[in-house]
Amino acid sequence: MIVLANDGISPSGKQKLEAAGFKVVTDHVPQEKLADYINNNDVVALCVRSATTARKELIDACPNLKFIGRGGVGMDNIDVEYARDKGITVANTPASSSQSVAELVMAHLFSLARFTYDANREMPTNGHSDFKALKKKYAKGIELRGKTLGIVGFGRIGQAVAQYALGCGMHVICADIYDVYTKVSFVIHGHGEVVVDVEKVELDELIRRSDAISIHVPKQADGSSVIDSKEIAKMKKGVLLVNAARGGVIDEPALLSALSSGHVAGAALDVFENEPTPSEGVLSHDKLALSPHIGAATLEAQDRIGEELADLIMAEMTT
Ligand code: NAD
Repeated sequence: MIVLANDGISPSGKQKLEAAGFKVVTDHVPQEKLADYINNNDVVALCVRSATTARKELIDACPNLKFIGRGGVGMDNIDVEYARDKGITVANTPASSSQSVAELVMAHLFSLARFTYDANREMPTNGHSDFKALKKKYAKGIELRGKTLGIVGFGRIGQAVAQYALGCGMHVICADIYDVYTKVSFVIHGHGEVVVDVEKVELDELIRRSDAISIHVPKQADGSSVIDSKEIAKMKKGVLLVNAARGGVIDEPALLSALSSGHVAGAALDVFENEPTPSEGVLSHDKLALSPHIGAATLEAQDRIGEELADLIMAEMTT
């Protein structure tokens, strides 16, 4: 049985499938040739990440496909219900990348607080710029300790971010549309478990109280943003924003204009309204720290994702 991992799979996931007798193909087949490839090669399972899409047309064109696996969380690139109605099992690996995304969020927060994303680019080369002037330019950093971090969307990743932020001495508040579990527990090696009940507030209150805001909601069903110009106007002047969820959940034009006015001091984006070609305005703004949708791109997360996908495929094909 052939598994097409069109956006790749970790070596450990591939090995697991091969040990169970599957042939794993990791060639990236272009989207327009995917249906023909699946049919001509008797592919039974298609694994994707965020690049490959599995829409109605592909599902209709591939009647022998049994399984679509999404390595990671967001399934907005798959017509999930349509595929399930056609008898295809659709599954993702939701928990496997939470820690990695949370660590990227903290990396961005630290970088925004001390301008390292920008200072690095401007360091003098062969004496072509003034070290002292740069030292002055980046002299107004802030500490994260003691600041209030507002986490919008308190699911797996939101809670993982809370663990790290609490460990840094930040005060953490959260907002969620559901009555979510707010007790965050983590183990300090050698010192046992710490449990913190994070304060849950309405979005409006979170927006007004936070020194930094990180958003961890899925792409909204109607494509709308959760934070737009109205919300940004209510934020503290000098707030820091991070979006490692989905492009557009913070409205990009509103963010750019608030960065330019100075209302938002700095922001970090791992996801974009136009992926993979973010707008020039986003790419060139000197108060934006950017990363190319790499939240889950750690060796550890990729191993967990690959192995979990392998387990899901093996369970599906052997029952
Ligand atoms: P999750 O389902 O565990 O948590 C999402 C939370 O958001 C839920 O508690 C939900 O109730 C809440 N929510 C939804 N809409 C909301 C709204 N309008 N206002 C407030 N809360 C709202 O999901 P997760 O595993 O924490 O992942 C969150 C998102 O992160 C994913 O959907 C995905 O888009 C994104 N993600 C990004 C990367 C990356 O590489 N940057 C990797 C993995 C996931």
